[in-house]
Amino acid sequence: MTTRPIDFRPVIVGVVRETAPGERRVAIVPDSVAQLTKAGLEVVVEQGAGVGAMIPDSAYEAAGAKVVSRDDLYKSADVVLRIQKPSDDETKRLRKGQAVIGLLQPLLDPKLMERLAGAGVTAISLDAIPRTLSRAQTMDALSSQANVGGYKAVVMAAEAFGRYFPLLTTAAGTAKPANVLILGIGVAGLQAIGTARRLGAVVRAYDVRPETREQAESLGAQFVTLKTQIDATGAGGYARELTPEERASQQAELNEVIGGMDVVITTAQVPGRKPPVLVTKDAVAKMKPGSVILDMAASALGGNCELSKAGEDVVTDNLVSIIAPENLPATMPIGASQFYARNISALLLQLVQEGALNLDPADEIAGPVTITHGGEIRSEAVKKLLQPAEAKS
Ligand code: NAD
Repeated sequence: MTTRPIDFRPVIVGVVRETAPGERRVAIVPDSVAQLTKAGLEVVVEQGAGVGAMIPDSAYEAAGAKVVSRDDLYKSADVVLRIQKPSDDETKRLRKGQAVIGLLQPLLDPKLMERLAGAGVTAISLDAIPRTLSRAQTMDALSSQANVGGYKAVVMAAEAFGRYFPLLTTAAGTAKPANVLILGIGVAGLQAIGTARRLGAVVRAYDVRPETREQAESLGAQFVTLKTQIDATGAGGYARELTPEERASQQAELNEVIGGMDVVITTAQVPGRKPPVLVTKDAVAKMKPGSVILDMAASALGGNCELSKAGEDVVTDNLVSIIAPENLPATMPIGASQFYARNISALLLQLVQEGALNLDPADEIAGPVTITHGGEIRSEAVKKLLQPAEAKS
């Protein structure tokens, strides 16, 4: 019997230590190293890559990876796996023919994509996974990280809230349950509803997509129905931006609801746009002292609360705490990395075929996730963003 010769060398996968401030996650955990090596890939891990997620280098070695310096990693890896987009220094280290996979946010930083294409680097972004495709669900890092964020948002809000979440009857008196409002019932919002319910709060929730009513109710939340009926279901299950009229009527009614809440957690996003303001200054003024707002949408672009400051905790004059964490999943690095590692490994194993990445533009997963390849920008959305302003209209 003859065995077929293997005419390709194994793909070398490099796992970097994240360099973005406050980023504690790591793209691959030891369990996934074992899975990748079993599939015939070689894994090299940058020294200290897992430290933020409490994973020692020795755990990667025990799982079959080689721990190397940053210089050696960039020299040897065919594919670099990461969470966040590369820093300036890391971008310089990437070389022609090498691929980088992560949550690269190509639509927020198209110039970086242009640079990577110019350097002949293949950029593959997990945030471009087609989320409604069932075989891509194991690769959906946006959902896995939003899930972590939704859970942690409630835990942080509960920590900042000076009372109980559940109803408690004790010899010293009765504590009323907290009234919690979740604004935006996507992946993070649903997890936030479930978590707040498990802590015993009375939960209400609101979204502009009517289909979310049933999902919220099935988790034990009461859906907030406004007199102004808005259906802002947009493409792909996302919301569309509201018209100014819709926004004004929504706001007036929401302000009344918000005023009666102890805790408000906001998760509303509209793809490619600034997050909508749902909690105005006036609404905050109506809240009782000791109330807490946790704005999950806060970033440099703004947030769902008019008064939130990304990355800061603010206490208003009427003693309402406004918390606006910028990277919630990184505050739960072990759990978040485990999920992320499964997402990125599933994508990688889907793309690697016979010792190379197969990036067929016609493939329903490889097509959309490949942002740059062979010196070209493939993503039409990124190309459009890079056009001069007059050519876009
Ligand atoms: P997202 O982060 O884009 O937004 C969060 C929520 O905010 C959404 O539910 C949106 O409707 C809501 N929102 C936007 N503007 C609002 C406003 N003015 N007022 C109130 N709420 C507002 O959403 P996401 O969590 O990424 O999920 C988006 C969609 O993708 C959902 O339909 C989700 O079910 C779908 N999804 C599907 C799959 C799948 O099919 N496997 C996987 C992941 C997500």
